[in-house]
Amino acid sequence: MTEERLRHLLGIRDLSKTLAERILDTAETFLEVTRRPVRKVPTLRGKTVLNLFFEASTRTRSSFELAGKRLGADVMNVGGSSSSTSKGETLRDTVATLDAMHADVIVVRHGASGAASYVAQRARAAVINAGDGMHEHPSQALLDSFTIRRHKKSLQGLRVAICGDIAHSRVARSNALLLPMLGAEVVLAGPRTLLPLGVESWGVKSYDRLEPALKNADVVMMLRIQKERLGARLFSTLREYSQQFGLTSARLALAKSDAVVMHPGPVNRGVEIADDIVDGSRSLILDQVEAGVAVRMAILYLCATDPDQSIGA
Ligand code: ASP
Repeated sequence: MTEERLRHLLGIRDLSKTLAERILDTAETFLEVTRRPVRKVPTLRGKTVLNLFFEASTRTRSSFELAGKRLGADVMNVGGSSSSTSKGETLRDTVATLDAMHADVIVVRHGASGAASYVAQRARAAVINAGDGMHEHPSQALLDSFTIRRHKKSLQGLRVAICGDIAHSRVARSNALLLPMLGAEVVLAGPRTLLPLGVESWGVKSYDRLEPALKNADVVMMLRIQKERLGARLFSTLREYSQQFGLTSARLALAKSDAVVMHPGPVNRGVEIADDIVDGSRSLILDQVEAGVAVRMAILYLCATDPDQSIGA
């Protein structure tokens, strides 16, 4: 039987539960590849992956680059001050130019919500959204679910508290869609001014204090204050924010005794999360980074090949 095809990955709504689980299962195989002494398979040999990043990135850009290279694809990074966008070229012309080079996959990060779907409408390539403004960051949510699933065996019935600057976080949005699809309960916590308007329509509980969300949580996911997206002043000072919403060991004690802590990075140590928790035994932050390469290998593989092509691992 022909499997469901992953044409683009623009947001979690592009995925059925079956397809999301297929990405996670495929990533298990690729995680094993990334742990071998020779971390390379020829699965995407002859394919071209273009990383088009208009916003800063450490983890996402380098893991998509490594993912493509470990699958044997030709990978090129475009964007930022070195590209012609800094000379005033429009996104439309940049996409047409890259498409004319026969890219198979374009991975795009942009400050505007909807940018990835704009690119998808104009390119022949498969398009992966690596973060569009405050909208979605689907590969992050997939690697988060993958990390949780590896540590807790299943997502079914887990309580995941997502805490901090929810309003500006594309990570929170994608996770709030994916985790319930995979059987987990999501609760949100943040200052009232950093909870998105219409949060009720997300279909998850939200609190304007940290403590009720942390209670009995299996997973605590902390978010960075998105200073680059803050318009008006939405809280008094970082110090005050940290006192009320920073994750400390005392607060973490409200969660289940085997609760794990996650953060998509970059971390503002001492603001949303205390130093000792970042480096502590319950932190999965570096596991998330490792998972990021395997999950992005799975996404590239599923976007760039026919549904029935074997992994070649
Ligand atoms: N790296 C994540 C993102 O690009 C989270 C963050 O920047 O705080 O959305």
